[in-house]
Amino acid sequence: MTYPIVSKQTASDSIQPNLRNYEAVRDSFQWQQASDALNVSAATGHLNIASIALDRHQLTATKDQVALRFLSKEPHSEPEEITYSALWERANRFASALTSLGLQTGDRVFCLSGRTPDLYMAALGTLKAGCVFSPLFSAFGPEPIQARMDIGNATAIVTTARLYRKKLASWVSQSPSLRYILLLDAPDTLDSPDNTQLEIVFLQPLLAHSSPQFETVATRPEDMALLHFTSGTTGKPKGAIHVHQAVLAHYMTAAFALDLHPRDIYWCTADPGWVTGTSYGIIAPLCHGVTLIIDEAEFEAERWYRILQDQHVTVWYTAPTAIRMLMKYGPELARQHDLSSLRFLASVGEPLNSEAVVWGLETLGLPFHDNWWQTETGGIMIANYASMDIKPGSMGRPMPGIEAAIAERSEAGEMRMITDPNETGELVLKAGWPSMFRGYLHEDARYQKAFVDDWYFTGDLARKDEDGYFWFIGRADDVIKSSGHLIGPFEVESVLMEHPAVAEAGVIGIPNEVGGEVVKAFVGLKPGYEADEKLSQDILGLARKRLGPAVAPKSIAFRDNLPKTRSGKIMRRLLKARELGLPEGDTSTLEESR
Ligand code: ATP
Ligand code: MG
Repeated sequence: MTYPIVSKQTASDSIQPNLRNYEAVRDSFQWQQASDALNVSAATGHLNIASIALDRHQLTATKDQVALRFLSKEPHSEPEEITYSALWERANRFASALTSLGLQTGDRVFCLSGRTPDLYMAALGTLKAGCVFSPLFSAFGPEPIQARMDIGNATAIVTTARLYRKKLASWVSQSPSLRYILLLDAPDTLDSPDNTQLEIVFLQPLLAHSSPQFETVATRPEDMALLHFTSGTTGKPKGAIHVHQAVLAHYMTAAFALDLHPRDIYWCTADPGWVTGTSYGIIAPLCHGVTLIIDEAEFEAERWYRILQDQHVTVWYTAPTAIRMLMKYGPELARQHDLSSLRFLASVGEPLNSEAVVWGLETLGLPFHDNWWQTETGGIMIANYASMDIKPGSMGRPMPGIEAAIAERSEAGEMRMITDPNETGELVLKAGWPSMFRGYLHEDARYQKAFVDDWYFTGDLARKDEDGYFWFIGRADDVIKSSGHLIGPFEVESVLMEHPAVAEAGVIGIPNEVGGEVVKAFVGLKPGYEADEKLSQDILGLARKRLGPAVAPKSIAFRDNLPKTRSGKIMRRLLKARELGLPEGDTSTLEESR
């Protein structure tokens, strides 16, 4: 079944989409427009993300607006509201504290904390002080934390006493660069590290005595601001360097692809340990002066619907895994809630199956708008917009200011553009947008290899149709070669998802004797379905009918949970390694099954 086009959203009475005419804006857009909108003057030569996200608002009525509405995981707790001016003051105190400890421009401040307002204060205060912010998932174990902090030359880490004891205490004394452990809370007892270079600092008294005024460090647009590690879906995570200028892209892309408007109540469900949770969970929405919902708790279907309802969320940015989990519970749960405040839904991180787009429309009354980007791109590159028809299953069209194309490169490294519509090749982007990564930390050769002239090769395969919409095929590493066909796992998984019993699917290629691969599917079922031979044949039958015998899986294995990264991506390389009995490789970002 090919899904019908979902017509563009009709604007609600008072709110017109920011991007009203895609073609017209795309044809004329210059990044200078983002600088102009934010009053960034090239003359000073200065730009700091925190000035745009926070300082700017102190001169307008936005300062009294709620910046963060924090929902604690403690049962029966009331939401805590923090205004833009209160957040600014807290960030100022944090920046003052860093400076008083002697941290300097460019020093790396890591953060290992749950989703609490302190994390936002630390992120913004770090940027204000001219230091580099690097967020980590609080659920990481000691080894992935150590590896990332070593790669990143951490000077300080902001964390809690509990996380320090559990995840840092065993190794921090050996860290070659670390000087401060900045504890957000005060423990009863704590062993000091046996390293005189390393100091434990209790932030509460220090912040109380630090100045609530702080002049944001006048960093330059090309100064490093953020260090983000990739999700590790295809291998060892890489440290992507981002600069202050990225804020121009954060701001503009959130206007176009998330359609943020000043009075929005915005919920980005991504953890700041993943680039989405920082670019679009902290920076972009604050630049727009909206109210951010922060939920400290983990996914739980009922809780999520309640948040959407009770907090009157208007714009919701989430991920396919979460949507698939909500779909698993069926439409009834959604319909028990009043979700009428929602105005715009978006998704990122993995391909969004057509089924999910349509489910949004049928169940929530709005379609999900898929968008595509990577840690490396720093911001949304390809998207479905409020003012544009959606072709379910497509990632949409390039952002104004972004040139995207399909290409291939030869063994010798020569590039050939693919201009025929619908021909598969690698997705490439013309270098030069503000949030483009400026390097992989300590891996310059790898960085250089990602470019041919000024085209960045993303490592993802895609096709572009006759209307200019981009369709994701798969990661170059995940594509399956079977009897002369090149099979993208996404296409197969999307068909499997159409079966009423299937909640999630991951597809891999298993090498066979004749040198090719056969397709194998791993499937998680919705509640109430029995994993038996009959169901397996039924699903395989659907796949054969829809995809043809050459592309359809030859076999299915049922799993309660598919292995996923902490950012919610199915780790096909792990399914494959386990199936073939090969080493699992780097599993630092693997999420324990839920
Ligand atoms: P690693 O590079 O370490 O293997 P990763 O690529 O998963 O990890 P991220 O930068 O978090 O790390 O993810 C970006 C990738 O996620 C994209 O290159 C693409 O493969 C996938 N992705 C993101 N959004 C979409 C989307 N809308 N549709 C399809 N794939 C997507
Ligand atoms: Mg990647």
